[in-house]
Amino acid sequence: PDGTVDTSRTYRLGIMGGTFDPIHIGHLACAEQARDAFDLDAVLFIPAGQPVFKKHQKVTCAADRLEMCRLACADNPAFDVSPIEIERGGDTYTIDTLHQLRDYYPENVELYFITGADAMLSIVSWRNSQGLSKLAHLIAATRPGFVMSDEYRRTLAEHGCFDVSYLEMTALSVSSSMLREWVGQGKSIRYLCPQGVWQYIQDRGLYRASGLGE
Ligand code: ATP
Ligand code: MG
Repeated sequence: PDGTVDTSRTYRLGIMGGTFDPIHIGHLACAEQARDAFDLDAVLFIPAGQPVFKKHQKVTCAADRLEMCRLACADNPAFDVSPIEIERGGDTYTIDTLHQLRDYYPENVELYFITGADAMLSIVSWRNSQGLSKLAHLIAATRPGFVMSDEYRRTLAEHGCFDVSYLEMTALSVSSSMLREWVGQGKSIRYLCPQGVWQYIQDRGLYRASGLGE
């Protein structure tokens, strides 16, 4: 991911966007299963600065979300974390990120944008997203409880996204909202996120009514 690549072969770089508030085993397993299924050389986790469709919602400060991603990816040489969306500031649009990455990497690096099938719809329906599938292959991971309707496929096609691969992944019924809620209730989330992340949450007092992150 540092841009120093051998130009004689094609590299496949997965891009995993999200709020990661906090990052959990669902995100990591999704990235790993995509890496395996699509033969990706690496997966880059990119925490969103201010996600446009979470505007009405309180999000933990970017530095904490970035650090938790770094802690979660530290032991996997195929995983890396990029601060580009956070450093860009303002509202986060996936299309801007993909343009930025496309300009940065040489042509032999193919981009694979991985996202949950639910989030894919919000992303492609957002304004200015028309060229999304020209910049990256799209991988939609199906989440527990998600049913792919004709309406869903039609909406993607209407937004110019005909080339979407589906990744049926193991059902891990965990979400960041659930983890925030549990921590707020004083419940343990051990094993639902990497140990280093759980430690960081406790050290920083995140997600507690009186915590530093609130
Ligand atoms: P929140 O509950 O706050 O919405 P989240 O758990 O959905 O958080 P996000 O940061 O919104 O996490 O998601 C980042 C990406 O990871 C999205 O593409 C989402 O669809 C996917 N994702 C989230 N949870 C899972 C899971 N359990 N299994 C597979 N993919 C997931
Ligand atoms: Mg979500």
